[in-house]
Amino acid sequence: MREVGHFIGGKHVAGKSGRHADIMQPMDGTVQGRVALAGREELREAIENAKAAQPAWAATNPQRRARVLMKFLELVHKEYDALAELLAREHGKTIPDAKGDIQRGLEVIEVCIGMPHHMKGEYTEGAGPGIDVYSMRQPLGVVAGITPFNFPAMIPLWKIGPAISAGNAFILKPSERDPGVPLRIAELFLEAGLPAGILNVVNGDKEVVDGILQDPDVKAVGFVGSTPIAHYIYSEAAKYGKRAQCFGGAKNHMIIMPDADMDQTVDALIGAGYGSAGERCMAVSVAVPVGEDTANRLMERLIPRVEALKVGPSTDAAADFGPVVTAQALERIKGYVDKGVAEGAKLVVDGRGFKMQGYENGYYMGGCLFDNVTENMAIYREEIFGPVLSVVRSPNYEHALKIINEHEYGNGVAIFTRDGDAARDFAARVQVGMVGVNVPIPVPVAYYTFGGWKASSFGDLNQHGPDAFRFYTKTKTITSRWPSGIKDGAEFVIPTMN
Ligand code: NAD
Repeated sequence: MREVGHFIGGKHVAGKSGRHADIMQPMDGTVQGRVALAGREELREAIENAKAAQPAWAATNPQRRARVLMKFLELVHKEYDALAELLAREHGKTIPDAKGDIQRGLEVIEVCIGMPHHMKGEYTEGAGPGIDVYSMRQPLGVVAGITPFNFPAMIPLWKIGPAISAGNAFILKPSERDPGVPLRIAELFLEAGLPAGILNVVNGDKEVVDGILQDPDVKAVGFVGSTPIAHYIYSEAAKYGKRAQCFGGAKNHMIIMPDADMDQTVDALIGAGYGSAGERCMAVSVAVPVGEDTANRLMERLIPRVEALKVGPSTDAAADFGPVVTAQALERIKGYVDKGVAEGAKLVVDGRGFKMQGYENGYYMGGCLFDNVTENMAIYREEIFGPVLSVVRSPNYEHALKIINEHEYGNGVAIFTRDGDAARDFAARVQVGMVGVNVPIPVPVAYYTFGGWKASSFGDLNQHGPDAFRFYTKTKTITSRWPSGIKDGAEFVIPTMN
């Protein structure tokens, strides 16, 4: 059995609290190890190491800091396959999808290599008589990230990259369900030349999260996870005087206009709805065809595609998606499907009974598809986070836009159409943070920012892109005036410092 502890001050440290959680292998339901759940003692140790290491790291010139990130990229590329397999075995997603998880994280590291540019300040000469004004961005000190199970490489990297490249020391509290890849990331950073203590991984649950929130030495907390916890972290961080950005859950809609290319739409929808078993905050979980004819044409093509989805173990590269993360998640998702049936939605594809031959104890279910879903149903209002797609038939475009704008969540959304005017109007009026036009999962590229609206996000700065550097740095503005110097007249000899 694998024992997973913490990574503090550049070393593996065993847990001291005596509390542990099992690390499951979702594809066969076996226990593959256990992870220590930290108490305040381990957290304190990590913070002391971070505090001690941070000033010298912040004083290291920015290009040297960037070179550590360059080396890290090289090391990850050398063990991409092994990392992807470790990730897939702990999370459940397929290995090709696990590679995407790593890649989207590395793209943010690539942008962070340009941190010397992002950190540049402003300068105004002659803002007043003899007065110059300039600003500089400085690291906060010790900062933290608390991350979810569903992207165990990408989201930790979205936080680590901007924080450490800007000169902070970082405490990562990854999900206790899949801690293997975050720990390996910390080892690889050390190997790439990051000083010990700059990146610490403390595994745990609510106890250590509360410790992070209450510790005065931690200056900022970046969180990603479900909305109730995001809101809790945001309010607790404010209570303890910390900066916080907290990203929560989602219910992402895709509007299908009557003029959409239906084959292209169905291809996009099936991948965005069922990829990674729907365990993505940018998964499409609601399709909104506009008009009865559009809805009928959509369902005619969609139903056979959902029935033909190939579910398989995480190691089967040909599978469309793998198991969900835990037995509890499987129960919760099936519970939502039961509820949808009870609420009167039409379950046109039922994946609840799916069993994976040879992997009977794994957490599998087939794709489920609901038609005739209405706005009052729990399966519409709440995040299911599983391979379940709801179809809400909308009589017209204005109604489709209205239900999206009135939904509690506002993470991602997409419109499929050939009409540029409709797409433009939609992009302007929709109350959602990330919009796709004929793009089903509009996760912005790494040099733009990522963040939802409404209950999908608390705080005013997004993840990655320029916002991430603002979040992990503070601005100092200097107004300076120099008394006029004594002028000695002309000097014809070359000036020296003697
Ligand atoms: P989660 O909220 O259960 O856990 C997230 C983190 O919070 C974990 O590190 C966990 O240990 C910690 N945590 C859990 N309960 C806590 C508590 N009571 N007090 C303090 N900390 C606690 O989320 P999850 O199940 O790991 O991830 C799935 C959720 O994350 C979904 O809702 C998904 O939409 C969301 N998500 C959002 C984004 C985004 O960018 N908006 C991205 C990925 C995932």
